[in-house]
Amino acid sequence: MTTIELDQAYIAHTYKRFPVEIVSGKGSLVQDASGKEYIDMGSGIAVTSFGVADEAWIAAVEDQIRQVQHMSNLYYTAPCARLAEMLCTRTGFSRVFFGNSGAEANECAIKAARKWAADNKGPDCNIIVTLENSFHGRTLTTLAATGQEHYHELYQPLTPGFAHIPAGDMDALKALCAGGKVAAVLIECVQGEGGVIPLDPVFAFELEAFLREQDILLMIDEVQTGNGRTGKLYAYMNYGLHPDVVTTAKGLAGGLPLGACLLGSRVKDVFSFGDHGSTFGGNPVSCAAAISVLERLTDSFLAEVEAKAALLRSLLENAPGIRSVSGLGLMLGLKTDKPAAEVVRACMENGVLCLTAKDKVRLLPALNIPEDLLRKAAEIIKAACV
Ligand code: PLP
Repeated sequence: MTTIELDQAYIAHTYKRFPVEIVSGKGSLVQDASGKEYIDMGSGIAVTSFGVADEAWIAAVEDQIRQVQHMSNLYYTAPCARLAEMLCTRTGFSRVFFGNSGAEANECAIKAARKWAADNKGPDCNIIVTLENSFHGRTLTTLAATGQEHYHELYQPLTPGFAHIPAGDMDALKALCAGGKVAAVLIECVQGEGGVIPLDPVFAFELEAFLREQDILLMIDEVQTGNGRTGKLYAYMNYGLHPDVVTTAKGLAGGLPLGACLLGSRVKDVFSFGDHGSTFGGNPVSCAAAISVLERLTDSFLAEVEAKAALLRSLLENAPGIRSVSGLGLMLGLKTDKPAAEVVRACMENGVLCLTAKDKVRLLPALNIPEDLLRKAAEIIKAACV
């Protein structure tokens, strides 16, 4: 049987895959089983920060694999400790909990908020507010956090204690908080799965001020926006926000499973021994990979990301068939005249891999994509839009 036949026979049918088997790649170029080459404008949904088979990343992973590939969290390992130090030093956060995915990072944030509120305000203060159209993961609790009803339908009952407000609606938030039961608000700075929609900066500012006044935690889901994607290390830095909790995953380890929940000064001691855990969380190979990613997300590199983002935007904005370009940094959504799925299919035929997000064509290229590939991809995308 071919890979596609095996997959269809033996893998649960949760993914509607394209009929393409990717077998190899280098940087932002990947090849399928027939030898056809594609420019990768999706980077595994914002995961391969430095593209495929990046040499520095391979060296870091290989080096760690040869030393110790896994150790239980009963013992210390250097990559885990060093990565936590890097994350805290670069952000001003106090402590980190490592898991394996974005959903787990958000689970940790939700647990931290519930425990912090119970400790400080009493057990009835347990509501987590998120935004409509948000996406926070696929576990039952992070589905409950996700502000999109259609994700909820199949899996009732979900974890209780979540409420959703429209982005920008301070009055709705104030009404919810009036009962004194809201522990935290969890937001994305750019709703990725929701259609690449950036948060209104005025709302973000008012939200932070109100939450501070009310002693409610501000938690930011940087699973998709984090680790240089928006031209800053984390997207909240574009907004000048000061969150209490930040979650991240996807691009953090550049292609290995790793999620992180960053705890600020107010919540840094919320967990005690045994309160939370994960067998693979902080795995030394994933952490070594993440160190190799973070080390290269310097200010000058992030300035290059911003320059590439501006270039890509300028190449696509006002092009025939493209109604609008939304997003931040190298996280863009194109509203096109043609259905997004049709554009993505045409791009694939012509050698460019793109994504969709709701009714948009979504672009999440590797942060180090060379300018010539960016220009070539933009030409192919533009041609597919008319
Ligand atoms: N949060 C956001 C903002 C995401 O975009 C995603 C995944 O797309 C998740 C959480 C869930 O991450 P994971 O699939 O790693 O569990």
